[in-house]
Amino acid sequence: MSDHQAIRRRSLWLMGSAGILAAGAAGVLVVAWLGAFSTPELSSFDGARAYDHVVSQVALGPRVTGTEGGFAGGHYIAAELAAVGWEAEFQPFEYQGTPARNVVARANVGRGPIILLGAHYDTRRRADEDADRPMEPVPGANDGASGVAVLLELARSLDLDRVPNEIWLAFFDAEDNGRLDGWDWIAGSTYMAANLAFEPEAMVVVDMVGDADQQIYFDNNSDRELSARVWAVAAQLGYGANFLPFPRYTMLDDHIPFRDRGIPAIDIIDFDYPHWHTTEDTPDKVSADSLERVGRTLEAFLETVDN
Ligand SMILES: [Zn+2]
Repeated sequence: MSDHQAIRRRSLWLMGSAGILAAGAAGVLVVAWLGAFSTPELSSFDGARAYDHVVSQVALGPRVTGTEGGFAGGHYIAAELAAVGWEAEFQPFEYQGTPARNVVARANVGRGPIILLGAHYDTRRRADEDADRPMEPVPGANDGASGVAVLLELARSLDLDRVPNEIWLAFFDAEDNGRLDGWDWIAGSTYMAANLAFEPEAMVVVDMVGDADQQIYFDNNSDRELSARVWAVAAQLGYGANFLPFPRYTMLDDHIPFRDRGIPAIDIIDFDYPHWHTTEDTPDKVSADSLERVGRTLEAFLETVDN
């Protein structure tokens, strides 16, 4: 991978304000009016936009590693990042003779310690938890598209000027074919973690975060201190009923290869999802509100992080 200085597009809100201010004294009144009806949240994480990313990804078909759909999934991510001013690069690799690629984007390069946010974008090639159709692929609305959707909307909404860190967004391929055809889980994140030019200070995975019935617990394989910090931000935002600061599951997910390198890493995952690895993992099971809670928590965490 090579370094790229990401260019942040100024938010529409800032450009709108500048234009209004330039209009002169009357503009002050307009700004005051806007202020009465809007808050800084005007430019913050929007669950409906994130949900659109879920629908768009599922419309591409299954994003199975090494297939046309998988290629389209990676392309979609890179194009959506570019549209909001983040320059993405592909990190190609091969797993079990199959071509795969992670997508990585960076912003605030050189500003401070690196925080890496990750999500897998590939979907499982067979729905082996589906009693009726176990040979069909998983649509991956929640398991695949939801984490990507949160990171893409975060790329749009995050106020990088308020973030004291360098931020990496990583979209992992080849996470979700574990136990199928001799494949292991988390191949993409394993490859990235083994080929780091720089060491992140912290790593956060989002996976399966879109369930309408959302309860996100501490994961036993996650850094407990970092988990507590993120869950505390969620509680401050009023999401205490959804972010429960108690351990429940022990997850094998894309945070593990980074944890194993000594990097504090956490997995934000709602593993109580009845449609997991079935053909029923479709956009109607995903909630914009759930995506928004996770996105706004990450946004607030990054904009208030104290290194
Ligand atoms: Zn999965």
